[in-house]
Amino acid sequence: MELDRIVADIAAEMAAMTERGRVADYIPPLAAVPADRFGMAVIMADGTTHLAGDAEELFSIQSISKVFGLTLALGAVGDALWQRVGREPSGSAFNSIVQLESEHGIPRNPFINAGAIVIADVLLSGYAPREAIGNILRFVRSLASDDSISIDRAVADAELETGFRNFALANYMRAFGNLHHPVEMVLGVYFHQCAIAMNCRQLALAGRYLMNDGRVPSAGFCVVTPQRARRINALMMSCGHYDNSGDFAFRTGLPGKSGVGGGILAVAPGIASIAVWSPGLNQQGNSQLGSLALERLAQRTGWSVFEPRKG
Ligand code: GLN
Repeated sequence: MELDRIVADIAAEMAAMTERGRVADYIPPLAAVPADRFGMAVIMADGTTHLAGDAEELFSIQSISKVFGLTLALGAVGDALWQRVGREPSGSAFNSIVQLESEHGIPRNPFINAGAIVIADVLLSGYAPREAIGNILRFVRSLASDDSISIDRAVADAELETGFRNFALANYMRAFGNLHHPVEMVLGVYFHQCAIAMNCRQLALAGRYLMNDGRVPSAGFCVVTPQRARRINALMMSCGHYDNSGDFAFRTGLPGKSGVGGGILAVAPGIASIAVWSPGLNQQGNSQLGSLALERLAQRTGWSVFEPRKG
């Protein structure tokens, strides 16, 4: 089939690339990931799956988990969330603190670290940290219809040991009253959600609700309303790649969320849920080959949220 060939071609082209970016090295478990990996999974609205390269190899989803955290937090508190987190691209690095002072501890959006830390605080309401982490993991497992998905403890522990910037962000927001639980508890939740390990196939499965107006037809359940799914996609498109979000949108025309583990979840609404993984990162901390692979996929398939509607 045509799409099988496109996906296989892209994987072969990525395998031949020498400019692969830099693998994250702020914690040993990520620094140890071989730079030569590339995986891709495309799951169509009818459930048809196209895999290439290292699509079955587990990696740390890191900031891609912010999409699932946001979805759960919106389910818990609805639009009240927007009193504590903004919806604007930051134009700054994912772990930047600069805007928090002038903006009174309200993070620009849910996909920078500060925003995801506020969301972890929301997810803690009424739960012990262990329960909140369990809720996130259970949610991801149900989205992917896969109970084998788990948290990499070595990654979670290393995040805690080296998370000085995240502690700074959290303490700063707590000073403004925008965190309601102790910083250690909130970051415990945040570090564990970042440490969820998945492969491209599982991640593309977990993203199906975003391509399908909030529903997972093949799994027979509804995750969010159509409006909420569209809004999450809008945020992914405008903020999902930090200070590289404009360039990612320009190149792919698709909503996407990256993680510093080298994964990207992208959505072609109505058509496909796509996951790519290559651990080498560009200057802004997004997968270098993952972005390129998605750009080529979008070009060759014509998938874009800006495609004129026919009829
Ligand atoms: N765990 C990472 C951090 O908090 C996640 C960042 C990312 O994936 N961009 O710094």
